Amino acid sequence: MSEQPTDERPVRGSRWSDVQARDSLQSIVETLAEVAGFDVVGVSAVRDDGYLHVLCLVGPADARERLIDSLAPVADLLGQLELAEDWGTLKFIPHDSLIIDVDKWGWFSDRPRDVPEGAWHPEDMLVAPIHDDRGQLVGILGMELPKDGLVPVDGTRELLEMYARQACRAIAAILESERLAEQIRLAGAAADIVRRATGSMSVDDVLTQCGGALVDGFRAQAVWTHLFGAEPRPVRDADPHSPPPTLIDLLARYAAAAWDRQTVGVFAPDRLPPEPLGAADLAEVLEFMDCESLLVVPLGAGTECLGWLGLTREQGGAEWSAGEADVAFDIGRDLGRALATAGNFEREHRLVQELQELADYKSHLVATVSHELRTPLTSIVGFLELLEGDSGLSDRSRNAVAAIHRGSVRLSRVVEELLVLHRTGEGDLDAAGTVDLRATVAGIVELNAEPAERRQITVTGHLPAGQVPVRGIEHELEHVVANLVGNAVKYTPDGGHVVVTLEQVAGEVVLTCTDDGIGISAADQAHVFEEFYRSADPDAAHRSGTGLGLAIVRRLVDRHGGSIELESELGSGSTFRVRLPGA
Ligand code: ADP
Repeated sequence: MSEQPTDERPVRGSRWSDVQARDSLQSIVETLAEVAGFDVVGVSAVRDDGYLHVLCLVGPADARERLIDSLAPVADLLGQLELAEDWGTLKFIPHDSLIIDVDKWGWFSDRPRDVPEGAWHPEDMLVAPIHDDRGQLVGILGMELPKDGLVPVDGTRELLEMYARQACRAIAAILESERLAEQIRLAGAAADIVRRATGSMSVDDVLTQCGGALVDGFRAQAVWTHLFGAEPRPVRDADPHSPPPTLIDLLARYAAAAWDRQTVGVFAPDRLPPEPLGAADLAEVLEFMDCESLLVVPLGAGTECLGWLGLTREQGGAEWSAGEADVAFDIGRDLGRALATAGNFEREHRLVQELQELADYKSHLVATVSHELRTPLTSIVGFLELLEGDSGLSDRSRNAVAAIHRGSVRLSRVVEELLVLHRTGEGDLDAAGTVDLRATVAGIVELNAEPAERRQITVTGHLPAGQVPVRGIEHELEHVVANLVGNAVKYTPDGGHVVVTLEQVAGEVVLTCTDDGIGISAADQAHVFEEFYRSADPDAAHRSGTGLGLAIVRRLVDRHGGSIELESELGSGSTFRVRLPGA
């Protein structure tokens, strides 16, 4: 065995954290060395970054010290293998066909180099590439220094081949189970994180919920995060000092680029700085994070990068594997989505709260002003009525008093309706009883029929024979019917017709109020349910009103779980249809 990084990289911790797997490999190489009669036997695993990593070794103490956990580029060895003698499982590389830079390779025996023909040369190499089920190179078994000092031939070689085949099968199984264990661990962590994130309603909650799962799932030392627009902060176990502004900018720049390229970045001393950063940037990040390595994961949703997540590992911690990087990227995307949703939820919640406060304020103001106006208005109207009865008034004064009276009555009506509007929704509908809407409608039709008759308008009710039960508050439902029928009569010229129909259709109660009056233009139809909206159409405008009636009706219908619709054509009449859930 003679693997050593050609560029003298410092050897970093292995992601082979599984001690048991290492022990199993060690016992395989010990047995193989014993039965095959070799002084040195070792196993290296292929890492995601293209390096062979020596996991275990039998041999002299100095060889073990030099080689275990050392790294060597896979590509160099593959080039060398092309020049090897193919014995089957094993490939023999005679010392005279070595193309690897011998001085830079790790350990070689100091036995004499001038050996006779057929004897083992200290720089000879015997290796067996190990492949997984899919034919991918996953490791290398290496053997050196046969105890008999000879290059194996004939029967010895056949026996050696058999031992090597068996050993390679066992090693492949261990490497595969380590890979699967990692996949299972990461899949579990990812599922856990997504579950926690999607169940959280606020940005803070998402991060707090996921911090622990990230640390455990990724065997990280600490978790950092920076959501753009907020302060960068440690989520779990990290130094609470905020990074300096230059570092915040630098990582934000990196995260945006990484999200564009849909990738994550490993920040480690022996790695190239992740694009678009330079070596000085890399050093600055590692110094602040005070860690051996950092995995920076962009958090994003759609095309937008929302921030980043940093996972650190301490000195001697394992390498970030390609599997971990892939899963981390997916988690960054899922977390990004969860954060975006939580952010929207928070914003909406704030907005609703603000609107609610504003509505409460408005409603309170309207109620107070109406209340303050009510009493003086009542006395004004009362005194005006007294004045009108005074026989000593001149005609001019009498006309003036009549005009003031009309205005005051109108003002009183506005005040009363404003108070009704304010009170709408005050009663507890859950505690409401059942109302027979048939009786309500019949009463309102009767009440309107007589005054309408004076203008030759007929008000007809088409009502079912039996009761029509609706859950609700009686005086509110009465207000709805009275308002629609009152409007129908008011906006219908003399001699017209108003028809009120009540039906029960598929569990719903449908109230229809149709007139052949002045109708409502399409432009007005869009606004008639708004507070204080009155049509500018001269036919409508000269009829007195406050513009609050339909706004109140709509609120009351909404509150009873119903809906209201309007069909109308200017000049031909209108139909208002109210649907309420049946009791
Ligand atoms: P108002 O006190 O002005 O009647 P409403 O809120 O009840 O206020 O109605 C708003 C506007 O809708 C009215 O000003 C009128 O222009 C129009 N409108 C309501 N009902 C009818 C109807 N049956 N026929 C024609 N126009 C109507």
